[in-house]
Amino acid sequence: MKKSRLYSALLCGAVITSSAMATPAQHAKTHVDTHIETQTMTSSNNDNLLISAVAWKQTAAEYKALYYQAFNMAKMQVDLALAKHKMGDKPLAVISDLDDTLLNASNYWGYMIEHNKAFFDDAIWDAWVPKNHYTATPGALDFVKYCQSKGVEVFYVSNRDQGENTYDYAVGNLTHLGFPFVDKKHLIIQTDISNKEPAQHKIMQFYNVIAQLGDNLNDFQRKYYSQDVDERTRLMEEDKTLFGSKFILMPNPTDGHWIRAIFGESEPEDTPENRQRFFDAATKSAWDGK
Ligand SMILES: [Mg+2]
Repeated sequence: MKKSRLYSALLCGAVITSSAMATPAQHAKTHVDTHIETQTMTSSNNDNLLISAVAWKQTAAEYKALYYQAFNMAKMQVDLALAKHKMGDKPLAVISDLDDTLLNASNYWGYMIEHNKAFFDDAIWDAWVPKNHYTATPGALDFVKYCQSKGVEVFYVSNRDQGENTYDYAVGNLTHLGFPFVDKKHLIIQTDISNKEPAQHKIMQFYNVIAQLGDNLNDFQRKYYSQDVDERTRLMEEDKTLFGSKFILMPNPTDGHWIRAIFGESEPEDTPENRQRFFDAATKSAWDGK
């Protein structure tokens, strides 16, 4: 018997035994105690700033559908490029980010909520990455394999730093899930810089890059690397016609440079000041009740 099932069976037995033997007064007290205990646990966990975002990531069919939508759009771009591609043209390629684009880390975020961590935590992330608890984002594997079947090369460009084994961990994450193109040519892991443009431009010298896939504006162009919320939006809007064609954007409500724009850093501390900042961000526009 699995440990969890054994635990459930023991717990179930304990509840039945205590209920059957309790007097009505004891039964009521047990019920109240349990109720208080549950409430206390719930209120402390409800204090987590990320609970809504993570619940959405873990359960919303809409979240998953947005990935299918993104990969459907990317596939459309691939098909258009293939139809136009002529002998002698540069070979076709797609550039993709990894985390929250092709790889889903909801399992990490579940741990964060269970341990009441309010923001991205590097030390926990670095311990989690090598465990290969990722899943592929919905549609990711089919899309990359479709590219491969059509002779379109997929390059992975990711910013990660888990020490000297960073590259091997990324290889492990991708091969564990069955992604193709996991080799030195196609898998580019940057541990020292967050600017992806030099790596992307190098690929563009030799390939006609159909589209770039990412969950962070920084995955597309460095110009979006602004710490100002409104400036970031303004810069994005300059390129609004490119989203869904050149730039294929995935949803990420838990982390990324949108967090950096609010707090000035991507991994803020859980302090009263930062909680106030998050509150201010959430009430950037708010009805005054009149
Ligand atoms: Mg990412």
